Order: sequence, then structure tokens, then C-alpha cells
Amino acid sequence: MDNLELLSEYSLFLREKKEEGKKVVAFISHDNIPEELLDAAGFVPLRLMFAGNDELMDASHDYLSPSTCAFAQSCIGLFSIKPSHYRFLDIIDYFIISNHCVSDICASEIISKYFNIPRLNFYISYTKNDNSGKYFKLELLDFKDQLEKISGIKIKNEDLKESIRNYNNFKKKIFEFSNLNIIGSEKLRVLQRAMLYGPPFLPELESHIQMFKENQVQKTDNLKGILITGGSIFLNDFLIDLIEEAGGNVIFFDTWVGYSYYSQIFEDNIIDSIENPLDLLVNRFKNNIYDDHSVPNFLENKISQIELVYQEYFKKTGRKLGIINHIIKFCDHISLMSSHLKNRLQQKGISVLNLERDYSKANRGQLSTRIEAFLEMM
Ligand code: SF4
Repeated sequence: MDNLELLSEYSLFLREKKEEGKKVVAFISHDNIPEELLDAAGFVPLRLMFAGNDELMDASHDYLSPSTCAFAQSCIGLFSIKPSHYRFLDIIDYFIISNHCVSDICASEIISKYFNIPRLNFYISYTKNDNSGKYFKLELLDFKDQLEKISGIKIKNEDLKESIRNYNNFKKKIFEFSNLNIIGSEKLRVLQRAMLYGPPFLPELESHIQMFKENQVQKTDNLKGILITGGSIFLNDFLIDLIEEAGGNVIFFDTWVGYSYYSQIFEDNIIDSIENPLDLLVNRFKNNIYDDHSVPNFLENKISQIELVYQEYFKKTGRKLGIINHIIKFCDHISLMSSHLKNRLQQKGISVLNLERDYSKANRGQLSTRIEAFLEMM
């Protein structure tokens, strides 16, 4: 199924939800947004995770300078592009303004202001310590309050726990799926769809797992294993094709669309043992230490995590894993640490390619050459 089919199928899904009386709340796809609170309040979370071509990027330039990151530009472009394949964006009821980074907050404010979508605020601390945990809880309480005011219903603790349980089971299934030995583009395609639809995608996810388990004949042994870290590969992006055309296979997506999402899970006994469900969400925020929003130990945590995946892959296959650090142009969060990340991993004998790019098609040839050279060198 190509993306146009996916978009029209998703549009239908959202319209059905609207007919059931639900409201749609959109946000820019990073992490730490409590989808469970939205779900428990009867809203449908809509993750903006569409970016990867220059049309969307260029359609934002009336609003924000081209020196903004290509992903944030594309999020604005989704609303301003004409003609649009994203007509379902017309039915968004609220937009979450959050501060994952400066570009995120600027793009979110522009979308809310110029496309007339009422805003909901949810701010997150950059640091990870006791005080940031307390601050996160205050923001959760405030966010819950905003949702209750607009929906006119009180979010009950048992409903929120139920949503947390549903999302948790769903993420565990994605985790299981992510461990299958299948070609990276196929894995990404299912991951993207899963994150877009959320738990309603669970039955389809289970049938994908079943199907891939029964037909594990995809030959990946002749391809070079890749872990992709840094910026996500969003819906529409051709980067995964370039990697596969060059003879690589992404076996681990260490990105927001990937491990950062499905690794945020609880053991069942923790869900039962913590009475206040907001405390569960605070716990998850505190444990999300591999996130680029996690100061001061982001670099150390990231290195140890990548090293672990590298060692496991080596033990299992006897082969080395290459690391592509995907830097979306003008993304300070990822680019700031990129040379340190590369140096530190290379000191451990792990090959790293810092691949900085925007979504311009004109760069396709140059990107291909760099990826091919990297795989050759591996
Ligand atoms: S600058 Fe980086 S973290 Fe911020 S919106 Fe762009 S890709 Fe996301």
C-alpha cells in the first residue's frame, strides 16, 4: 500500500471517530506526550509524523524561515500545501503546544495561530531529576484539567489506568514485532502505521506478527546491519530506500518513531501497585533516559544503549553493526552532540556515519554516495 492509500484509509478512520462524537487532538511527534490522558478523556491523538519530501518543506516558507529544521517546516507545510493529500487535518479540534525543542514550539504555535486550531499547552522539563518529575506531574494535572474543561467530563483514575494498560499492551506487541528478522523498510512501514493509529491497530499488528513468523523467509543475511539513531524516518521519506539500495538493512530504529516509543513500557505489577495513574506517567518520564530531551546524561546514556545493541547483534550474527546518525538539517538537538557521539563510538570500534540532510530530492544522489561509501567501509 502506498502512502496515498494509507492517507485516505486514515482519513476514513478519523472521520468515523468524529462521527462517534470524538474530538481529534494533534501534536508534533516526539515523545513524552501523554496519549493515554487524551484517550481516557475520549479524544483521538493524531501524531504528525508526515515528512520526507521537499513539497511539504517548501510549503512552510511563508511562515517560518528555511533555516528551521526540515521536520518542523514539513509539519507547517502539511497545513499550507495546496492541493493537499492531508484533508483529514481539517477535522483537528485542538493542537498541543509543547516544547520538545524550539522548532517544535514555533511550528506548533504557528499551526495553532494561522490555521485557527485552539491550543492545549503541555510543557516538559529538559532535565531529569526529582524536581523535573514534580514539574511533570504539575503539567499532567494542568493538562488533565484542560481536557476536562473542554470535554465536560471528569477523567476517572480507573479510566486512565485502563488507557495506560491498553497502550502498554500495544507497545509490548510493537516490541515483539520489532524483534522479527525482517527487512527494515517493511518493519518501518508497520511501525509507522502502528504509531499513527495507536491501540486500534493491535489486531492488524498481531496478524502482521503471525504472518511474518510463518513466512520468515526474507533474506537479510547478505545485507549489512544498520542501527539508525538521531532523527526519525517519517512517513514519505525515501531514506530507508537509499539504505536498502546501497545494500544495508536497518535492524534497529533508535528514534522517536521506533524504540523511543515502544520501549516506554511498564511491568504489569507496576501498573497494579501504583495507585495514582499520573504517578505511572511520571515514572515513565523519569525512566525515559535515552531521549534527546534528557539532560545532563543524554550522551552517556545514548552511547551505552547503542553499544548494547551493537554487542547483542555481534553475538547473534558474528557481524558488525553500522550506525547512521540521522541529523535532520537545523535540528540542534541531534547535531549538537553528533561529533561527540561519533568520536566516542569510534573509539570503541563502532563505525558511525553522521548523515545530515533536509528533504530535498536534489540531494538524493549525494546521500546515496555517502551511504554506499559507508557500507563499503564497514
Ligand atoms: S529540531 Fe529536531 S527535535 Fe526539533 S522538531 Fe526538528 S527534528 Fe524534532
